[in-house]
Amino acid sequence: MSDFEPTFPEVREVVRKLCADFPGEYWRRLDRERTYPAEFVTALTDAGFLSVLIPEAYGGSGLGLGAATAILEEIHRSGCNGGACHAQMYTMGTILRHGSPAQKDAYLPKVASGELRLQAFGVTEPTAGTDTTRISTFARRDGDDYVVNGQKIWISRAEHSDLMVLLCRTTAREQAGKPSNGMSVLLVDMREAVGNGLTIRPIRTMLNHATTELFFDNLRVPAENLIGEEGKGFKYIIDGMNAERILIASECIGDGRFFIDRATSYAKERAVFGRPIGENQGVQFPIARSYVQVSAAALMVDRAAALFDAGQPCGTEANMAKMLASEASWYAADQCLQTHGGFGFAEEYDIERKFRETRLYQVAPISTNLILSHVATHVLGLPKSF
Ligand SMILES: Cc1cc2nc3c(=O)[nH]c(=O)nc-3n(C[C@H](O)[C@H](O)[C@H](O)COP(=O)(O)OP(=O)(O)OC[C@H]3O[C@@H](n4cnc5c(N)ncnc54)[C@H](O)[C@@H]3O)c2cc1C
Repeated sequence: MSDFEPTFPEVREVVRKLCADFPGEYWRRLDRERTYPAEFVTALTDAGFLSVLIPEAYGGSGLGLGAATAILEEIHRSGCNGGACHAQMYTMGTILRHGSPAQKDAYLPKVASGELRLQAFGVTEPTAGTDTTRISTFARRDGDDYVVNGQKIWISRAEHSDLMVLLCRTTAREQAGKPSNGMSVLLVDMREAVGNGLTIRPIRTMLNHATTELFFDNLRVPAENLIGEEGKGFKYIIDGMNAERILIASECIGDGRFFIDRATSYAKERAVFGRPIGENQGVQFPIARSYVQVSAAALMVDRAAALFDAGQPCGTEANMAKMLASEASWYAADQCLQTHGGFGFAEEYDIERKFRETRLYQVAPISTNLILSHVATHVLGLPKSF
């Protein structure tokens, strides 16, 4: 993924060509109207880019996470945004790794073809926050169904998904032995659920992200939609988080390169005091620093993806990649805005839009402090503070 030797060059080339059909004007209009990039997502689906993690046996291309990071990086470097659809790539991993053979046969080929959109992932709750073991959305077994009650927040793409991977409690925390026991994963068919116990309320945010709040009121989910064993859901969700963090990190690398590309060309063209602003070291050094930071972060993303694809443990590397890449992209965003002076604030340059978009990644899908806590306690052996 480093700029020195880009991985999957042919894949990148095709992604760039596809993205050229979705220029800044397209994204600015969606941003103004707060609408979903349906055409862009369809184009990516039809080109097979969203099924690269699905094995060939189920209709995907089975290329692995390295290819997926190349795709998302190029999408973001082109000024587009993969946030509307990246979850279609990895959310199916919960079924792939922990589903029954019947569930895999029923869902994965349709997710691979795009016939089924599986890109909603319901974990976060308003009161639990990052402390996932405190979730209280509860699924009570009743005959052949589970009956779900509770609330989720920040569940992205829920209105644009046919299926959702939902984490809920099936045993109260106090009775589960360990806090991480007693949670289960259900596959919710959104087409049947909405209006029958599930209400979706969109949340308007500083970026166009199609995120929502969900309210469950006696929603019935067939027991056959339980993924894996009841009570083991927390482990299944954690398993999927490494892929998510590595992929988000690659989006940050793409954003970082977008900002560096834009800042560099503007600094070469814009002349003030009779010379290009890029001739001033006060302007060129922050751009160069960005390049150094993004290049270093990209190596960590490559390393984490390679470990993931080799089936090796990669939790720490995935976390470090996400943290380094999100900080590098944010610094790149800031220097790019500064390089553009007043024009950086004008919508037509796309800098302010990307600036808002890339800020998210220091908070979601996991915030920087929690990554530092992981490194401090799991790697360095320091005492846990919570
Ligand atoms: C646009 C958007 C889309 C999202 N999409 C999804 C989605 O699709 N599905 C989903 O399940 N979730 C989603 N999320 C939720 C996201 O994963 C969480 O917002 C994120 O993990 C942070 O959790 P929180 O907001 O509850 O913050 P909190 O847990 O309330 O934390 C708030 C702040 O306090 C800090 N903090 C908390 N505890 C500690 C501690 N012990 N030590 C040091 N610092 C601490 C955190 O680092 C953070 O900065 C999304 C969020 C956003 C904003």
